[in-house]
Amino acid sequence: MNTEPLLNALRQLVGAAHVLTHDDPAADLSAWEQDWRKRQHGRALAVVRPGSTAEVAAVVKACAAAGVGIVPQGGNTGLVVGGVPDHSGTQVVLSLQRLNTIRAIDAANLTLTAEAGCVLQTVQEAAEGAGFLFPLSLAAEGSCTIGGNLAVNAGGTQVVRYGNTRDLCLGLEVVTAQGEVWQGLSGLRKDNTGYDLRHLFVGSEGTLGIITAATLKLYPKPAAQLTAWAAVPSLDAAVALLGLAHQHLGAGLTGFEVMGQFALGLVNTHFAHLRVPLWQESPFCVLLENSDHESEHHARAQFERLLEAALDGGCVTDAVVAESLAQARQLWHIRESIPLAQAEEGLNIKHDISVPISRIPEFVAHTDALLAAAIPGVRLVNFGHLGDGNLHYNVQAPAGMDAASFLRQHEEQVNTLVYDAVTRFNGSISAEHGVGSLKVDTLPRYKSAVALDLMVRIKRALDPDNRLNPGRVVALDRP
Ligand code: FAD
Ligand code: ZN
Repeated sequence: MNTEPLLNALRQLVGAAHVLTHDDPAADLSAWEQDWRKRQHGRALAVVRPGSTAEVAAVVKACAAAGVGIVPQGGNTGLVVGGVPDHSGTQVVLSLQRLNTIRAIDAANLTLTAEAGCVLQTVQEAAEGAGFLFPLSLAAEGSCTIGGNLAVNAGGTQVVRYGNTRDLCLGLEVVTAQGEVWQGLSGLRKDNTGYDLRHLFVGSEGTLGIITAATLKLYPKPAAQLTAWAAVPSLDAAVALLGLAHQHLGAGLTGFEVMGQFALGLVNTHFAHLRVPLWQESPFCVLLENSDHESEHHARAQFERLLEAALDGGCVTDAVVAESLAQARQLWHIRESIPLAQAEEGLNIKHDISVPISRIPEFVAHTDALLAAAIPGVRLVNFGHLGDGNLHYNVQAPAGMDAASFLRQHEEQVNTLVYDAVTRFNGSISAEHGVGSLKVDTLPRYKSAVALDLMVRIKRALDPDNRLNPGRVVALDRP
């Protein structure tokens, strides 16, 4: 296929400087072609960087007319190979990064409208600057975009109180597969005029439409935020502590993270300067956050009562409460460094599963035992958002084994074992990262046939020519 007419049309539409191709020997497209985990280095026909919604729409129309697939991309921090091109050299990467304006803040409506390419941290800072809180928070917040967060319905560390990205979204602006613009930036909290299209696009991973802007919920900033780090003797104890925390803190409980000893040991090895507390004496540690609308004094008293009850009940063996904001940040930084420490240790098999909270201890004991029997010496990096039933149950090669050959030999076996266990415990094989291309062949084994059929029919209805992120989430071409 002669792609020059399309490339010329794209240059006309967005400016030659914003169409990057391999024809230019000086251009390095790796940043857009390779995913964060370095699981895939694809090859793009071009990387196109439109600067407005109208330009996005025009690019989609041009690609559709030329029969070319489009891979939307935000900050490229996704973990399931959903936002990079395949190896064919025929797909256009549509980067949203230049759509990076905060369009409006409506203080009385408690909303903020941001373009899709705004980095999450920029959205948080804009909210903060206006005296509000935008609570979505995850370790990639310095580079992921709000459009990417919406596209994968990202979770993060505040879900226990504020919900997923979906719950924080009141409206969207979307470019459809036909290049039309759906203006749905309503900012309404109640609107029952038919199907809620917003919920169709959130979590669709770029397969149904391209999100160009969103209206997001803001919350009042708490008067004080306190963080505690507790050593717990078991996962059962961690679940008991969660129950106590709900009772004592109510809506003040804004974070509840669990971290296994091996995960914290990796942080200790690779980032020794972070000085991980209490990890050597306990199989798990828990990070709790209390956001209080009264005062720091009140928050501290509440925390003390909670920890006293937990120590008395035996579900906590030792604990520290951060004395300052800097110390609290330091504790959160340790938690957020786990994925990075894991990456330093080498390639690993990631799972972002969810199981009903009550069944997590049993699930972990059951699956740990199966894995240890199947692959002697295998190392489990277990941590995550226990407050909402979501574990990062990651599997690292036995010490001394080459990580790449571990993945080649064992990835399928490990995934099957873990996902079968998840199913046995009524869980989900993805609570956060989505399906992308990494789990597209796995999904049919674990999703009901009826649900999959509905998903395929929605995809065909909205994108009949399969132009938007083809081959991701649902595989249309297979029987
Ligand atoms: P990208 O990686 O660019 O894209 C992700 C997907 O969305 C792709 O399928 C892409 O095609 C699509 N997409 C992107 N932008 C758009 C758009 N505007 N319209 C339509 N489709 C689009 N996730 C969690 O849920 N919780 C966590 O705690 C968490 N922690 C993380 C920590 C680290 C260190 C890293 C690297 C990732 C983490 N993630 C987490 C993964 C998470 O999916 C991403 O960080 C983030 O949500 C993706 O945003 P992005 O802008 O980088 O999207
Ligand atoms: Zn997570």
